[in-house]
Amino acid sequence: MPDLTFVRGDITEQHVDAVVNAANSSLLGGGGVDGAIHRKGGPEILAACRELRAGHYGSGLPTGGAVATTAGRLPARWVIHTVGPVWHGHEDRSELLASCYRESLRVADELGAATVAFPAVSTGIYGWPMDDGARIAVTTVRGTPTSVAEVRFVLFDDAAFTAFAAHQ
Ligand code: ADP
Repeated sequence: MPDLTFVRGDITEQHVDAVVNAANSSLLGGGGVDGAIHRKGGPEILAACRELRAGHYGSGLPTGGAVATTAGRLPARWVIHTVGPVWHGHEDRSELLASCYRESLRVADELGAATVAFPAVSTGIYGWPMDDGARIAVTTVRGTPTSVAEVRFVLFDDAAFTAFAAHQ
């Protein structure tokens, strides 16, 4: 059972073994966390993503999946890319959001990462309500067997921090 920590901050500045990217299925960049990771991490990350697309992930990374690349110039060693579900009020996609956290931890275990930082997946451009996204994130990580020693939730603003800290 990892230690769960909650900080306000920027995922790209975390000194951890692996940072999780709220990517999209193309793996070829986007806005929000994805844009910040590629901007600060440099072209090596995109080159690794293109290789994944040319290989096993020809049609993209499915929603709820996770895959690792180099972290380029970021302080972390690896980026674990995961694709959150877009929020649809009329359809329960919670299991896909939970899968992002579970699969990212599985990849972290494969890598041997001891410290992993997560953003609030799906709660930005993909529109997931922050309180529900926080609940799913924390309960899923608590319920997932892993060798990771610290899971750090990195929240970008006060509202996100408050929502996550409520589940501390
Ligand atoms: P998604 O497309 O999965 O919704 P986003 O990147 O748009 O992903 O947003 C996910 C969450 O990450 C949002 O709550 C957003 O405010 C937050 N966020 C945006 N940039 C950063 C950053 N540099 N570090 C940490 N969190 C961030």
